Amino acid sequence: VIGHMLVLHDITQEKQLEQMRDDLVSMIVHDLKNPLAGVIGFAEIMHVKAKKRGIEDFEGFLTKILYQANTLHEMVNNILEVHKMEDGSMEIQKDVTNLEDIVNNAVRQVEMSAKQKGITISTNLTTELPPVFVDRTKIVRLFANILSNGVKYTPEQGQIRIHITIQDDEILTGISDTGKGIPSQYLDTIFDRFAQIDRKKQGKAASVGLGLYFCKLVVEAHGGKIWAESEEGKGSIFYF
Ligand code: ADP
Repeated sequence: VIGHMLVLHDITQEKQLEQMRDDLVSMIVHDLKNPLAGVIGFAEIMHVKAKKRGIEDFEGFLTKILYQANTLHEMVNNILEVHKMEDGSMEIQKDVTNLEDIVNNAVRQVEMSAKQKGITISTNLTTELPPVFVDRTKIVRLFANILSNGVKYTPEQGQIRIHITIQDDEILTGISDTGKGIPSQYLDTIFDRFAQIDRKKQGKAASVGLGLYFCKLVVEAHGGKIWAESEEGKGSIFYF
């Protein structure tokens, strides 16, 4: 015998991953509850009212049901896609496509909730936009996620602007809102998974904190960069 060898495996990282997975599951379950409760609650009210008074109230309640259902849909999609991207099972399927169509498609997805809050969405795209080689579905979701945050975190009668220009060889998109803004110390961390500035204060706005994380994964998978600038109380601009 000329010596002994002792091998110790550090499994801290595995344990942390396990913990993150458990946290994810409990957060999903927890966060799915609120919008679902909203859907069920309003559906019940609609049912009782419909019986009593006829159908005039339908539109208002249906709008609320749709809003909650869309929120739920958005959350579930983000969770699923982030999961797929993280474990490598999500492929980026690029195709030559038109950026203006992508923007219009994303705007349509948030139009209803914007209208409900009296928020206007305007677009200003350079006339020289070239075709782009991107995963269309994911880039639409990238725009839709940022726009829907804009609607969520902007008070009534606010404004959201989409501005697209060409700088050197790159396409630069800026999406600004007139919302409550983001404190400077959070400007980098809001793109992390589960990042939320103040969960309790956000109150009704059901969310998981995966929207911007998804955006970051998508932009980086296309070789791009995403960041935010903001002035508290005045609004935020998301660039990519
Ligand atoms: P969430 O599902 O909570 O909206 P996101 O990843 O989309 O998660 O955003 C992370 C956090 O960043 C939000 O919880 C919110 O605090 C903040 N945030 C995102 N977009 C805006 C915005 N346009 N204005 C103000 N705060 C924002």
